[in-house]
Amino acid sequence: MDDLRSRLAAVDARIADAARAAGRDPSSITRIVVTKFHPATLVADLHRLGVRDVGENRQQELTAKSAQLSALTDLRWHFIGQAQTKKARAIRTAAGVVHSVDRARLADALEAAGTDGGVLDVLLQVNLTADPDRGGVAPEELERLAEHVAGCRTLRVRGIMAVAPLDEPAAPAFARLAGYARRLRAVVPDADWISAGMTADFVEAIAAGATHLRIGSAITGPRPVRI
Ligand SMILES: *Cc1c(COP(=O)(O)O)cnc(C)c1O
Repeated sequence: MDDLRSRLAAVDARIADAARAAGRDPSSITRIVVTKFHPATLVADLHRLGVRDVGENRQQELTAKSAQLSALTDLRWHFIGQAQTKKARAIRTAAGVVHSVDRARLADALEAAGTDGGVLDVLLQVNLTADPDRGGVAPEELERLAEHVAGCRTLRVRGIMAVAPLDEPAAPAFARLAGYARRLRAVVPDADWISAGMTADFVEAIAAGATHLRIGSAITGPRPVRI
């Protein structure tokens, strides 16, 4: 718990420094702690340390942990992984925000699962690489997808999300992302969230305007081997 506290504090200090260096207010940035592969007890420890936004990338894990921790009603669960359409209902049940909407069929499945009268916050994931397996809509399809999702009554388009490419420095990729964010706002004017930045590249993401950082191992420590 002490190690977790000090890693969290160290990351938050680096976020604040990077924000100030970019002329931004640190309080305009939401730090999501990615807890994938770690047990629910770690999420409970993070909650005790004041963390309220946590991220998971697999539906089964999201469903299990959010059920185990259902007493922590102020935790916000962010789904950040590639989503299968048939898992949309389970994802919608457990998540407060879905960052990885990258196709109309997934939006339709999430929409169809919205039967409780609530509205689900979603981000459109854009692919910053030429590899379709990396997830995300191709940039040239962004406006078309935005128009489609904006027409889903139980979804609210909040912004854009991306993962930095592996074979390119993060800064130019995030600069492209900032341009896609502007294009999204031309379709959905209040969709001003930018979800970008992980352990290796959150400073570059902040410089490029990220509003939501998804940080895992720098805070949680190394991930346990996936079972
Ligand atoms: C795992 C993951 C992260 C966090 O990765 P770290 O390098 O541990 O910070 C962020 N975003 C997505 C989509 C992830 O799957």
